[in-house]
Amino acid sequence: MGIAQRYAHVRGQIDEVCRAAGRDPKTVKLLAVSKTVDVPTVAEAIAAGATAFGENRPDQLVPKQAAYPQAEWHFIGNIQSRRIKDIVPAATLIHSVFKQEHLAKIDAAAQAAGKVQDILVEVNVSGEESKSGLEPGDVRAFLEAADAFDHIRVCGLMTMAPRYDEQTVEITFRGLAELRDKLDGLHLPHHGQVVLSELSMGMSEDWQCAIRHGATIVRIGRAIFSDEFEPVA
Ligand SMILES: *Cc1c(COP(=O)(O)O)cnc(C)c1O
Repeated sequence: MGIAQRYAHVRGQIDEVCRAAGRDPKTVKLLAVSKTVDVPTVAEAIAAGATAFGENRPDQLVPKQAAYPQAEWHFIGNIQSRRIKDIVPAATLIHSVFKQEHLAKIDAAAQAAGKVQDILVEVNVSGEESKSGLEPGDVRAFLEAADAFDHIRVCGLMTMAPRYDEQTVEITFRGLAELRDKLDGLHLPHHGQVVLSELSMGMSEDWQCAIRHGATIVRIGRAIFSDEFEPVA
């Protein structure tokens, strides 16, 4: 299978898992994580219908967004302060925000670009040391801090599950959904109600579980772009 076939195959599987879970497939966005492929290769996914891509490095995000401005480009990687000015103009949605000290820089870059930057708050639900993100108990204070900025809109939460342990994966995704339910509608002094409509969770190996727990964005790289990926049953 080539990239176009794998993209179509994954999208078809997502639609099936949605229907089995009683969800409308239109409520789940497939983010094609193109971080391992070059600029021309992205065209193969676009030809198959891909409309939204994820990148984890500004050096990849910026040229790919410039080459395919018709697509959405999401930033899903580690944020370095000095690269915020490059990330913001190119990013439809930044999934990986969890440091309060980045908020003022994101706000300033968004203002300079004449936009309101949509962001997700990255949460380390599993508590695994190698994972970045806020502890669930710190998310409320983060939302309160973000409320001070006119050019930032928090749209939801993002997490990564630890690999290869089904039970922890399930606990992680359920935990993010529960945290969203708890904080959604929170009333803040400046912007009013916080609407956390997006749950970004699920990757090549665990997206099925994420959809069953309410994911609205699944971030899938290898299952689309690698011919070596073997889906787990
Ligand atoms: C690479 C990456 C993905 C995609 O992972 P695959 O296992 O290739 O599907 C998703 N989210 C983040 C944050 C990533 O860095």
